[in-house]
Amino acid sequence: MRTAHGPWTVREGLVVRLEDEAGAVGWGEVAPLPWFGTETVAGAEAVLRELGKIVTTAQLEQVPARWGCVRFALMSARSGPAPGRAGRDYSPIAALLPAGRDAPARAEVLAEAGFRTFKWKVGVGDAADEWALLDDLFACLPAGAKLRLDANGAWDRRHAERWLERCAERPVEFVEQPVAPDARGADDLLLGLAADYPTPLALDESLAGGEDVDKWLDAGWPGVFVVKPALLGDVSSTLTKLAAAKAAVVFSTAIETAIGAQSALRWAFAWPGETRALGFGVWPLFADARFDGPAAAPFIRAADIEHLKPEAVWTALS
Ligand code: MG
Repeated sequence: MRTAHGPWTVREGLVVRLEDEAGAVGWGEVAPLPWFGTETVAGAEAVLRELGKIVTTAQLEQVPARWGCVRFALMSARSGPAPGRAGRDYSPIAALLPAGRDAPARAEVLAEAGFRTFKWKVGVGDAADEWALLDDLFACLPAGAKLRLDANGAWDRRHAERWLERCAERPVEFVEQPVAPDARGADDLLLGLAADYPTPLALDESLAGGEDVDKWLDAGWPGVFVVKPALLGDVSSTLTKLAAAKAAVVFSTAIETAIGAQSALRWAFAWPGETRALGFGVWPLFADARFDGPAAAPFIRAADIEHLKPEAVWTALS
């Protein structure tokens, strides 16, 4: 797949299998995104090797918070009840549009297929070209459709301001990560932009783990939190804090196999707040189809998540 950091051809990760004394088996996936600031695969592997073949519950719980992806995998693999559902039987999925001039034609095809929330990567080409395409795109979308823009941190203050002036007159659901988290003064700039323009802003790359979510909740972030459960470590406690703050949350994939996808989607269905279209419209993605999460469709049913087969991924890898 193509990312803001160039082509990404191999998804490296780790699959964890835990079996308890009673013989109950669970699976979890370590799916790091090191450019977000998570651990690397090599680092995660070292932590798991250190734990060894036989572990106690206490050892699993003592893995430090900075190994958020490892903690997510271990929590997922521990046998026990899956997170409860918030009563929803299905949830809409956001369609991913290609960057650049192919977006309007693709949006028409996807709208025909039933998608109503679309995400378009911006900050990739010349701004004037992208503004013209933005209007073409709106002309293609059916009434009531929602459009998300994702800049992946590509803009500086001046570009962000000019874009947000444009967006103010258009029905953009939100603009994701207008400036990079490591840009100078990024936190103040993001808070300032969120206060100055009517289009909501979303944090994605700014949230590399639970501690980042805590920081932005403390800062009173008024926009959307893009939550990738696979990066969060203790997903339960982070989601509890977000729910208590009545935060706007959009769940998103970290590009997992079916194992991580099942865990992450269970959390998305457990969210008690408003249902926004899920950012999980990425599969099929892998050369070996046994690794794929649920194929992108306008909706996903809670029941379909339970049909994913972690054991098949494990077998495919063995
Ligand atoms: Mg994003």
